[in-house]
Amino acid sequence: MADGGEVLLEVRDLKKWFPITGGILSRVVANVQAVDGVSFDIYKGETMGLVGESGCGKTTTGRLILRLIEPTAGSIRFEGVDILQLRGEAMRRMRRQMQIIFQDPYASLNPRMTVGDIIGEPLEIHGVARGKEKEKRVAELLERVGLRPAHARRFPHEFSGGQRQRIGIARALALHPKLIICDEPVSALDVSIQSQVLNLLKELQQDFGLTYLFIAHGLHVVKHVSDRVGVMYLGKLVEVATSDELFSSPQHPYTEALLSAIPIPDPTAKRERIVLQGDVPSPVNPPKGCRFNTRCPYVMDICRQVEPTLADVGDGHLVACHLRVPVAQAS
Ligand code: SF4
Repeated sequence: MADGGEVLLEVRDLKKWFPITGGILSRVVANVQAVDGVSFDIYKGETMGLVGESGCGKTTTGRLILRLIEPTAGSIRFEGVDILQLRGEAMRRMRRQMQIIFQDPYASLNPRMTVGDIIGEPLEIHGVARGKEKEKRVAELLERVGLRPAHARRFPHEFSGGQRQRIGIARALALHPKLIICDEPVSALDVSIQSQVLNLLKELQQDFGLTYLFIAHGLHVVKHVSDRVGVMYLGKLVEVATSDELFSSPQHPYTEALLSAIPIPDPTAKRERIVLQGDVPSPVNPPKGCRFNTRCPYVMDICRQVEPTLADVGDGHLVACHLRVPVAQAS
């Protein structure tokens, strides 16, 4: 992995297979291999983007890190502590360090709770503040995300989508976390609002020294916010690089295709769009060898036989592709 400073989160060989049962005995007949052997580090204070099409496993990866769901295999270390071994009070304390901002600001806020109760709930649950102290803290958080303290008395339906996402951000900040998983935090918002929310996240990162895992569908969203980017395809990481490197010199054919789909603002500039053929294969029965082989314009015989491993092609730029890393070199 690239040496980007002190590691906050270390994910190794993380897997999540969801069993599919069938027959009268409800035996496991297959598995949805949602995340299948993903490894990466996140450094303190950075934003790591995680991108890929729907069903690639990026959201599942975020939820595994928070232990909202339990992994099938692998390890997750936060500041060196193996969080999968934590139970009870120890895990509860660890949860304060890691928070999430959800994609849908409409669905993620309880419509029957006031904004003050929503933001104050984690403070109460973790015994951080109650009563007047909690109200004061909620008021500070609301102001910090660009809302007014008086908004604490209102309900979520009284706010716009952008304001609701600000409420979600305030809730995530309440416990002074070190890591925030931003799960497509702007994809449900109007384009005009997206940059405001992204700017707010950047400001908060600087002010509070936050580290982000920023999950997004397309590369264009992570481009301006990420220090490094990981690209996922069908449960695997296929490329990891600094944002500059990934955008200027993509090495994996899938990343190339994703990049080619980003519109260029300059009407005189031309970029050939790579249109991938076919749909993403089922994660129940992924292709043998390289999982991208059914859609890759450069597919070779070996791609259908041997799975490429993520290997360093220079300065921490990791790629899983036989074109870039011949088999003998990878092994
Ligand atoms: Fe394409 Fe083969 Fe590289 Fe996979 S390993 S991305 S199929 S060239």
